[in-house]
Amino acid sequence: MKALINVRIFDYQNYIENGFVVFDKTILKVGKMSEFKNDGYQVIDGKGQLLMPNFVCAHSHIYSIFARGLALPFNPLNFQEILDQMWWKLDSKIDNPITYYSGIAAGSEFLLNGVTTIIDHHASGTEILGSLTSLKKALDNTLHLRSILCFETSDRYPVDECIKENVSFAKRYHTDHVTGLFGMHASMSLSEMTLKKISRKLKDLPIHIHVAESDMDEADCVAKYHTSIIERLDKHNLINKDSLIVHGVFLSDKELDIVKERKAYMVVNTTSNLNNAVGITDIKKFMDKKIPVMIGNDGLSSSMATEYLNAMYLTHLKNQSPTAMNIGHILDCINNAYDYVGRRLNIKIGKIKEGYVSDFMLLPYTPFTEMNGDNAFGHIFYGLFPNFKPCDVYVDGARLVKNYELVSKKAKTELLESRKYSKELWKRVKEK
Ligand SMILES: [Zn+2]
Repeated sequence: MKALINVRIFDYQNYIENGFVVFDKTILKVGKMSEFKNDGYQVIDGKGQLLMPNFVCAHSHIYSIFARGLALPFNPLNFQEILDQMWWKLDSKIDNPITYYSGIAAGSEFLLNGVTTIIDHHASGTEILGSLTSLKKALDNTLHLRSILCFETSDRYPVDECIKENVSFAKRYHTDHVTGLFGMHASMSLSEMTLKKISRKLKDLPIHIHVAESDMDEADCVAKYHTSIIERLDKHNLINKDSLIVHGVFLSDKELDIVKERKAYMVVNTTSNLNNAVGITDIKKFMDKKIPVMIGNDGLSSSMATEYLNAMYLTHLKNQSPTAMNIGHILDCINNAYDYVGRRLNIKIGKIKEGYVSDFMLLPYTPFTEMNGDNAFGHIFYGLFPNFKPCDVYVDGARLVKNYELVSKKAKTELLESRKYSKELWKRVKEK
């Protein structure tokens, strides 16, 4: 058993100015230093650092990591052209080894940013079957991260293979580190025939789908099917409890009422929406309707802290009000993600409390104004999030990042190896 001592502890609920945590795979004891007694623990002195739970990224595309540094002709006039000119060119050339190494590259970066549970939406057109297992091997077996994975079913690919990959992966993995959802790309890339097939195979597996990311998705649905996207999906009984409705920049009140009734979640990715110039998500509207909201990165950066900042600031702009959202709302989004992954992975996660998994990070922080239980999240949001880099990161009580570096030799070696696979992918993408 280990004990981290002399740490400032905050878990989005409780605050201890100078405390200790006794842990192995799970947290065994938490308290003030004045109550600490060394019962033979391996003691690690936190030297006044801040200890807090690791982050969850609620929507990502790990396969997109090798786009970094890739220059392609890129002159999109709308969202569909962004997909055509960049992402659909890239994902169609990915096979299982490239999927594995993209998992190593993106997972390592997440880890260094304190993000240790990732809900991913995977696509790889060259090899679909076995792709989620390749990603699982990188994230779970090599890096020891937690993940909830699925494959983006779409009519761009052999649909039966996409369905098989989702269903068989979700059936096979139910551990405290990994499980599956049913992935679907978006309404505009899914025919009626495909939705019927999915509906027959889905059972109670929640779906994970992009909805109304751009106005083109809704317009396509109305033109082809004379209904809104959420109504279209609901007609096929696809929206079930714990489904992830991602983006929702253009959802109507009627659609949001269905999302709420089906006990699904909204997952917002504000920075990605800005980058693609599709619009600003009205997170306040989702919250006013009491739909649980989580925050993802859409594969754009590995810093969840940046996403939390942008989600709040952009909601202010969207509503033309500096009080449309406050840091308490961001705290709700963070806690919603812990509840969600805790339920899907069957663990207690996101609190520094007895019985919870030992997934936490340490950051140097010396406040120059008073820090207490009432204002701790304010210090973190305004003081740490703009330049957030944990010094040490633990998962299951094992230190995976020490002094800003990965601890695992295997992870470091494979991270270097990933350059070879990214080069191969670039070559394939550039071939006519
Ligand atoms: Zn996405």
